[in-house]
Parts: sequence; C-alpha cells; structure tokens
Amino acid sequence: MQETIFDKIISKEIPAEIVYEDDQCLAFKDVNPQAPVHILIIPKKSIAKIADADVQDQNILGYLMLKAGEIADELGVKDAFRLVINNGEGAGQTVFHLHIHLLAGRALTWPPG
Ligand code: AMP
Repeated sequence: MQETIFDKIISKEIPAEIVYEDDQCLAFKDVNPQAPVHILIIPKKSIAKIADADVQDQNILGYLMLKAGEIADELGVKDAFRLVINNGEGAGQTVFHLHIHLLAGRALTWPPG
C-alpha cells in the first residue's frame, strides 16, 4: 500500500503534536483544526479507509473507538465531542490512512457542521 503522510508521522520522519501513543495506535493534533480540540486517532496498521477494513480489523477498530473516549476524557471534553470518519474523496477524505477525527470545544451542530 502507498505510504502516506501519516505513516511518516508514525515513523517520526515528520513531527506531529502527539497526545497519545501505544503499540497499536497514535493520536495527534490536526494541523488544520476545525474546532478548538481536533485530534486524529490512527491505527499503526495501514488501512486506507474504513470501507477497506475487514473482519480481521474488528479489534483495532473497537480499540480506536475506546481510545477516542479515553482521549476525550483526558482532554476534558468527554461530555461533548464528535467522532468523524471520512471515507473516500467524495466524503472529504484526503489522507488515505484510516483516521478518526475527534472534534470538541465548540458548539457542534447537526446536520454536521
Ligand atoms: P481527511 O480529510 O478526513 O482525510 O482528514 C485528513 C486530516 O489530516 C485533515 O484534517 C488535515 O488537516 C490533517 N493533516 C494533514 N496533514 C497533517 C499533518 N502533517 N499533521 C497533522 N494533521 C494533518
């Protein structure tokens, strides 16, 4: 699979403001934040997009969701945050390494905005 900028963040070839890391995942501040809190949570395993995940990925997918909740708690936003996964260019995906956006710190409207 083609290397993305997120692979370079995982390997520390390029810097990022990391807020959490373990052997399975990495979480860092989005460089172009859309809310006062905007964190990207990514698996270290390369999965291009959520539609490419298969049954072997179910543990890491669940793990990322649990970590998102923990990170929201650590950042003091557990009562109001939004998780977003863009899948495919038509949905706004620009980096083809699966990531969960964690957004918080402002009013989050619905439909999404
Ligand atoms: P998406 O549009 O869902 O693929 O989200 C990709 C996100 O990655 C965007 O919100 C970008 O601002 C963010 N991004 C791209 N490059 C970097 C980087 N080097 N460090 C942190 N965030 C990045």
